[in-house]
Amino acid sequence: MIFANRALLPTGWVENLRLTLSEGRIETIGVSQTARDGDTRVDVLLPALANLHSHSFQRAMAGMTEYRKAGKDSFWTWRDLMYRFTKELSPDQIEAIAALVFMEMQEAGYASVGEFHYVHHQPDGTPYDDLAELSGRIAAAVAETGIGLTHLPVLYTYGGAGQVPLQAGQARFGNTVDRYNDLVERARYLLRSLPADCQVGIAPHSLRATCPEELGAVLQDHGKGPVHIHIAEQPKEVADILQWLGARPVEWLLENVGVSDKWCLIHATHMTEAETRDMARSAAVAGLCPITEANLGDGPFNGPSYLAQGGRFGIGSDSNVLISLTEEIRTLEYSQRLRDVARNVMVVGEGSIGETLYRGAARGGAQALGRGTGEIAVGELADLMAIDSTDIALCALQTHQLIDGLCFAGRDRVVTDVWSAGRHSVRGGQHIGRERIVANYRTAMKNLMSAL
Ligand SMILES: [Zn+2]
Repeated sequence: MIFANRALLPTGWVENLRLTLSEGRIETIGVSQTARDGDTRVDVLLPALANLHSHSFQRAMAGMTEYRKAGKDSFWTWRDLMYRFTKELSPDQIEAIAALVFMEMQEAGYASVGEFHYVHHQPDGTPYDDLAELSGRIAAAVAETGIGLTHLPVLYTYGGAGQVPLQAGQARFGNTVDRYNDLVERARYLLRSLPADCQVGIAPHSLRATCPEELGAVLQDHGKGPVHIHIAEQPKEVADILQWLGARPVEWLLENVGVSDKWCLIHATHMTEAETRDMARSAAVAGLCPITEANLGDGPFNGPSYLAQGGRFGIGSDSNVLISLTEEIRTLEYSQRLRDVARNVMVVGEGSIGETLYRGAARGGAQALGRGTGEIAVGELADLMAIDSTDIALCALQTHQLIDGLCFAGRDRVVTDVWSAGRHSVRGGQHIGRERIVANYRTAMKNLMSAL
């Protein structure tokens, strides 16, 4: 049971709210003048966000790719370094990194993660004895941390647009459609040991790493969703797809595949106005990863048009170069301000930027991960976050300014508690398994560094 001094409901703010939970869901919500014995008392209770896009292993290379050598660095030179790093990782290291990343996400206020999982095989491309060995390692990290999971095994068949063969650095990613189907089935089996809110979706990596026939085949088998795909992240990708398929990536996808509310289009950075309008109408979620998009030099999302046409969106930490919920949200808004030379961009008409982005990302993230959550309401999964409004970043604010304070002035330290489908993993600002998870990570990284 949870007692909150203040809480943000779909209808607005309320004081002295008491929630009861049952089987991971919110069972009752009521106003109560006092907490009862045994209640967990928190200050300000919010719906927790889903982190809709992560490649957890990339966290361990954060800081290794910020050194410029001769010439111009780009997304593509970063990718080469990432491939070299990926080649070294063992299953134990992948599990230790994932546990650290999921812990950091929970401490930042995320209740769940969409793990877009594309390292499947041994370094030379040979499958492990268990085809879904590394999906099993992600599941183990989820069991360790208690985070909610939508696991998204990736179909990765080609090295570039136009069915270019896989390159050496991509050997760990590749599968035929048949083997991919086996992998998804095996991952579903392995996830049965996790709580019921954890599930498996699919992720054709991108148009450049698949082809229309294979995309159609996996959608036929697994089209119920969630379906996630990288799209239109880089201008070169847009040009390559245009040349190959005769349409821009988002345009091609919307015209040729039944994109629906089961879909999440990751990045969708480079869109025309027509693509922006049509994507908003599709009811798919735009999976925005503002820190990574800034780090990789992708460019800003077409935010104002997309919001004006009712487009849905959520937030992801993608490369995990930095895991910070508050920073993702403010980077999203700041990318728009820098492009438009304007303030308070990401709202339609008048209103709070923080509330627009926070509430929008809560609903959109939940939709993208297929989780029945995104608001504090009876029957929803208990994905909840509590913050401390006595923190110096928030203590001068009135209630209606709290979310703006969180998003623009707050650091993740204001997060005191996080529940993932009722699992209370962050208490007093720290994950309950922090000591063991960090120790495991340090040991795993020591071995990695000596291997590099
Ligand atoms: Zn990604």
